[in-house]
Amino acid sequence: MRVAVIGAGSAGLAGIKQCLAQSVDVVCYEKTDKVGGTWVYVPETGKDAFGLPIHSSMYDSLRTNLPKEVMGFPDYPIPENSRSYLHRTEILAFLNDYCDHFKLRDKIRFLHNVELAEPTNEKKWKVRVRDLRQNTTSEEQFDGVMICNGHYFDPSLPALKGRELFKGQQLHSHDYRVPDTFADKRVVVFGAGPSGMDLALEISKKAKRVILSHHSKETILTKFPDNVVQKKDVVELKENSAVFQDGSAEDVDIIFYCTGYKYSFPFLSESCGVRVDSNMVTPLWKHVIGIERPTLAFIGLPFYVCAFSMFDLQARFVLRFWLKQRDLPSREAMLADEKREMDDRFNKRGFTKRQFHMMGPLQGDYYDDLADTAAIERLPPVLTKLHNESSNRFLDDLVHYREDRYRIIDSENYIQLDAVNGN
Ligand code: FAD
Repeated sequence: MRVAVIGAGSAGLAGIKQCLAQSVDVVCYEKTDKVGGTWVYVPETGKDAFGLPIHSSMYDSLRTNLPKEVMGFPDYPIPENSRSYLHRTEILAFLNDYCDHFKLRDKIRFLHNVELAEPTNEKKWKVRVRDLRQNTTSEEQFDGVMICNGHYFDPSLPALKGRELFKGQQLHSHDYRVPDTFADKRVVVFGAGPSGMDLALEISKKAKRVILSHHSKETILTKFPDNVVQKKDVVELKENSAVFQDGSAEDVDIIFYCTGYKYSFPFLSESCGVRVDSNMVTPLWKHVIGIERPTLAFIGLPFYVCAFSMFDLQARFVLRFWLKQRDLPSREAMLADEKREMDDRFNKRGFTKRQFHMMGPLQGDYYDDLADTAAIERLPPVLTKLHNESSNRFLDDLVHYREDRYRIIDSENYIQLDAVNGN
């Protein structure tokens, strides 16, 4: 079997690694000159030297929002360290170590941008790639395609009355790098997901006033510095001010959109049988395998997960079926499975389409389902437990939670180090 992996971020690396483990002939195309995707910090914003949009949304000061104990790969954990919440440079170094340890680099064609992935009549895939250095294109055929292009690069902006009237600066978190531009400014941070909360805190060190605007029903309880206030959604922008849902208005200099990203696969031909509907990628079996064309797989769609471990699990899952070590269910059975999941998420849990791939507290069941369905090794439950603990700590104490230190004891248990013997 010959497989194309699109993207050499952490998902693509896991995909290549698992292909090699199964002696599958694999080629990975990566449009930049580095592995690591999101974790590669690029000071510039806008376009790169080849005129392509800059992929990474990484900012300079970033420390992980999960402890390193849940951020490794199942067979390649992040080594011991004096702290649990690492700087972005340490994660990137780790991904490069992983790449070299498993000898993945030779399989990656850097500065190769996939422009088209299209199914052929012979049930194969045609992949058209631009060699960015030579500015030439070529086509190759594959039996399977693993899409590993990430989903934090195409900014999503809310519909907002008066946006074009506002005379100040408007910026999406995709283009945020350092807090200097916020010095002494009055800023509205739009959105209170993990990055909105983190960035409100970060820019509050420089800004005069930060208004964290969101539509959560409750006030966020975490204790912010005194120059950060919370308000319900902005409903309108005027020349120099923002109007909020409660009818109040504030003079502001910058609107900072932390409103997330769109799932985007610009290279996928319409005939691939998968579409994106408000960030729900469908029809897919178990958030991974294209139901209409099962030789198409997406590694890394779910969010609020133990990302690298899940990528590894999803790649192992896909290969079990591609290599016919297990029979794929019928198309009808896969569609029925997806329908059950939709009913559960939309009707029972009240999720929106944008939350279709959201895991969080559901992640443990999802991992077990993948592993058991494919009869492959499960992820240790301790990952889910520690992920959930860390997410709660983030919400409770945004300012201090990164000081926590953990150690995994076994597949079920972890300890918080400072709670034990003060070490
Ligand atoms: P990416 O890392 O985005 O990699 C995709 C790769 O595909 C890129 O290298 C890109 O250049 C390449 N590519 C895209 N299109 C093409 C194409 N057409 N042709 C060729 N190559 C292409 N997760 C955590 O677990 N902990 C954290 O603390 C954390 N912090 C985060 C902070 C920020 C600011 C962001 C944006 C994300 C964070 N994440 C975090 C999530 C993070 O994105 C995932 O952990 C993970 O790195 C995603 O990996 P990926 O391989 O799916 O995508």
